[in-house]
Amino acid sequence: MEHESVDCTSCNSRRHHQIGLVEAFGVRLCDDCGLVFVSPRPTAEATDAIYGDSYFDGTSTHGNQSERGGYQGNIPGRKARARLLVDWIRSLSGIQNGRWLDIGCGPGYLVEAAGLAGFTASGVDVSESAVRIGREELGLDLHCAPAESLTASVQAPFGVISMVDTLFHLRQPGSVLTQAIELLQPGGLLFAGPFDLSDSPNGPPPMATGSDFSSLGIPEHLSFVNQQSMQFLLEKLNMSEIRFLPLPLTPGDVANNKFRIAPKSLLKLLRALLRKMPGVQRAVHKAAARSVNTRAGYVLAIRPSETGNLPSDPG
Ligand SMILES: [Zn+2]
Repeated sequence: MEHESVDCTSCNSRRHHQIGLVEAFGVRLCDDCGLVFVSPRPTAEATDAIYGDSYFDGTSTHGNQSERGGYQGNIPGRKARARLLVDWIRSLSGIQNGRWLDIGCGPGYLVEAAGLAGFTASGVDVSESAVRIGREELGLDLHCAPAESLTASVQAPFGVISMVDTLFHLRQPGSVLTQAIELLQPGGLLFAGPFDLSDSPNGPPPMATGSDFSSLGIPEHLSFVNQQSMQFLLEKLNMSEIRFLPLPLTPGDVANNKFRIAPKSLLKLLRALLRKMPGVQRAVHKAAARSVNTRAGYVLAIRPSETGNLPSDPG
């Protein structure tokens, strides 16, 4: 596998230092914005190849290994979470219609949920497999392209741009967020996460030398955005009303975090039962969403009406 070395993939700073090593991949901390990123890292060709059919059906060593059948093993759960997020974004922002773009959409469950809620929704994803599933099985408007070439792939403007479970995978989060903001209409909303709310009083300690990096999913995951690096970038891009909000929990999170004493076999049985009853599953998701995870969360930010020219692309 060929490797390449890079500077900070969010703010482009050359001031960064190594805080860990996973196989041949360095884990580096940016001295300027606080982003933790991977360098040296595999080339784009190698990481794009991760997201084939096997990524979504659970037969790859990458992707979701916790559910049987991988990413596509719990479609009702994914749909319920997507609806929960769309409802949450609508209630937080007050935006109820218009054009919505989901970046890193996978098969498009969030695009589908936004469409059902009354938005004109589309998505973009680097995975041909995921885009094919979304187009053919869900009839969605999905584009296959790397997030890094976003402005060349979709037509502006959008009222809402979301990035859910996308940031970790990005090779150049700074460039992608800059392009996303360019695609927003004035007054439009950017929604991204989840990531560490390291500046919150209950947040996890920031990643540092000596942390355990082996469970971070490197090299599938390359950019460990946190509250500090996100604030730094969004301020540089002149975004306003920047808000960091803790993550509403899914039933899976609640089961994993709060009821660790329950036998695994019982949890598995309950999950299988819920999958057969989408109505009950939605209700359980709503109930779980009332509790929050203060360790992780999302950012919301508005593109101001009078932005003038955006600063040049930092990525
Ligand atoms: Zn940086």
